[in-house]
Amino acid sequence: MQCEVLVVGGGPAGSTAARLLAEKGIETVLIEKDLTFNKPCGGGIPSAGLKEFNILNKLQNQIPFNIVTKVKIFPPFSEPIEVSLQGGEILIFNRQSFDSFMRKLAEKSGVKIIEAELINIENSKLTVRKKTGEVLEIYSKYIIAADGVNSRVCSIKGWSKPEYYWTVSLHVLENFIDTKDTCEFWFGNSHASFFYSWVFPGVDYFSVGTGAEDIKKLKTLIDNFVEKRFAGKLNINSFKLRAYKIPKWGRRSFFKENVIFCGDTLGTVMPISFEGIYYSMKSAQFASEAIVQKDLNLYKKLWDENFLKQFSIMKKFQDYMFGNDERIDNWLNIHRNPAIQELAMALWLRKEHGSKLIPLYLKAFGSLISRIATFKIK
Ligand SMILES: Cc1cc2nc3c(=O)[nH]c(=O)nc-3n(C[C@H](O)[C@H](O)[C@H](O)COP(=O)(O)OP(=O)(O)OC[C@H]3O[C@@H](n4cnc5c(N)ncnc54)[C@H](O)[C@@H]3O)c2cc1C
Repeated sequence: MQCEVLVVGGGPAGSTAARLLAEKGIETVLIEKDLTFNKPCGGGIPSAGLKEFNILNKLQNQIPFNIVTKVKIFPPFSEPIEVSLQGGEILIFNRQSFDSFMRKLAEKSGVKIIEAELINIENSKLTVRKKTGEVLEIYSKYIIAADGVNSRVCSIKGWSKPEYYWTVSLHVLENFIDTKDTCEFWFGNSHASFFYSWVFPGVDYFSVGTGAEDIKKLKTLIDNFVEKRFAGKLNINSFKLRAYKIPKWGRRSFFKENVIFCGDTLGTVMPISFEGIYYSMKSAQFASEAIVQKDLNLYKKLWDENFLKQFSIMKKFQDYMFGNDERIDNWLNIHRNPAIQELAMALWLRKEHGSKLIPLYLKAFGSLISRIATFKIK
């Protein structure tokens, strides 16, 4: 089999890249090792992000989702901060249905989708094994590595993968929680290490979880969080716990040889919020644009123009705060100010990522930033 672009991985990044390429008439094949995979994920996507890709209207009435209109933030020491979302909502999806919907859109645009696992790459020849056991050889000019944080493409090539945090999560049924319209973010080192703990109301269950840099801490942290949040009402031992990596954003190559990295394989997860779905789709959009324009350097250029400053600033805040409850508490308390909330809404919820907002954001956080001795946007 031959194609111009072979996309490895059918998550949000892979299916978006494949669809956009096929829409431009580029012959594209996508391989996904498990079409029924339900990735452990909060599944939260701001509606503005889906509108931007013109898929919100297509999703409606096709797959179920829950609509979140409020966010409740729990600082380590201070009283909770409740924020009503302005100018958009967060939609919560079951990842299995969202991912298969996205692949169907790609298929309708002309992408050939094969349920198969990548097992080898030699220059432009890729060897893949179908679920049936059949082995195929596919020749492709470009390869898009959208196979996630554990990227097999990187393993085969001997290239480094993104650094990561560990998460652990469980699905809790509704009778334990009654806030279907609210996402909860809980901060504090007793239950989340360099991460936050969360309660996200999904379609038919709540995703409850926490994260850490070190996998060995996960069990204690999730025990502590469940105890703190549910005060003895929930027996964690009766739930299935799933651990999964989430990448840390950092400086990585956007492409090497004929391989272009997208989404979690590139590490496009926003520091502090750990939002990855929208940014994985944006990386896919920029990568496909670069392929269409036959200029792979365009990919990094587009990414940097749109997101480098925001990611760098959030990373600086993350490095400064996480690991220190007092700092986290101070930083979160700034979000009681309606002007700061409005900026956060613009950047995070409404995806108004114009560079004009960045100076405003910096000004608003001026007093805090002055305490970060080496603050420098690279
Ligand atoms: C617990 C948790 C909660 C999260 N919550 C949120 C949230 O609420 N909102 C948000 O925006 N982000 C969230 N994220 C981040 C989000 O899940 C990722 O950033 C996003 O899924 C990245 O998409 P992707 O397509 O790059 O990678 P993935 O979604 O990981 O997709 C990679 C795909 O590649 C396939 N694959 C892997 N290896 C091979 C191979 N060898 N051959 C063929 N196929 C292969 C996999 O089966 C998978 O389908 C969360 C992450 C975690 C771990």
